[in-house]
Amino acid sequence: MSDAYGHLLDATIQHLEDLKSRGVRHVAVSPETLRALAQSPAKFQGPSLKSQIVKPVEPATEHAVQPETGNRKSEFTAPVVEQAALLALPGENVLSQSLPLDPQAKAAAFAALRERALVCVKCPHLASSRKTVVFGVGNIEAQLMFVGEAPGADEDEQGEPFVGKAGQLLTKIIQATGLQRGDVYIANILKCRPDTPGQSAGNRKPTADEMATCIPYLHEQIDLIRPRVIVALGATAVEGLLGKTIGITKLRGTWKTYRGTPLMPTYHPAYLLRNQAMSEKRKVWEDMLAVMEKLGMPASEKQRQYFLKV
Ligand code: URA
Repeated sequence: MSDAYGHLLDATIQHLEDLKSRGVRHVAVSPETLRALAQSPAKFQGPSLKSQIVKPVEPATEHAVQPETGNRKSEFTAPVVEQAALLALPGENVLSQSLPLDPQAKAAAFAALRERALVCVKCPHLASSRKTVVFGVGNIEAQLMFVGEAPGADEDEQGEPFVGKAGQLLTKIIQATGLQRGDVYIANILKCRPDTPGQSAGNRKPTADEMATCIPYLHEQIDLIRPRVIVALGATAVEGLLGKTIGITKLRGTWKTYRGTPLMPTYHPAYLLRNQAMSEKRKVWEDMLAVMEKLGMPASEKQRQYFLKV
């Protein structure tokens, strides 16, 4: 690497850090600059790398890609972003999702977040009744994230979300798409099992206070993972993420957005265990087919036919 290129790179990093310290979270990069960056340093001819790549995105234009009107397309939008924009939902933040975080910094931030959550005592009643803090599991580079309600007894025992009967069904649903559990990230609205004093078994819905106390950990997980799609499993997950208390029967199957990220509400696998009707399984599967389409995952004819009556 030439000295000049090295200086330019240092200056660019410095400038990005300045922007970050001033609260700028996204920068726009032109297609030309992306192409230039992909070239070797020796070939790079640009007069000022810094001036080209570091255009802070104003909050008002953060959601600038609006395929419905087509007249606010950012001049700095890369072709890949334009493609994603064609499938974008109103409010979907295509631009920020195209800018990856440094994997090492991300892993370190994620580990630090986990450490904080594992010693959390913000809900003293849950901290004293829990066996483990169920932080989350999976790939922090995942494109797809599942969010459930709260750990049950099995999860509390093992320290991992969705490992009981409902979890085993979730694993089957994930595998039916062609993915493995380790390809996605799985977390809950609550990291501790809701206590059930006076009861030897069973679960209860988290209270509004418990959800409000715990949700910042999930927000941080999502901010770091930056999945391309979130699946909210059941009404409590939707309520925690979107603040909507509308019934899941009405919401499921319709795309929503969580801070710019497409979110698909669907039934909780525990519901499918209680209601084994083919028609209900099919609804969840249709939601997953929509998720696959959003992620650009091809579905085979066989996959399309799952849970259809013959
Ligand atoms: N149900 C949930 O919502 N989450 C789990 O982790 C297990 C069961």
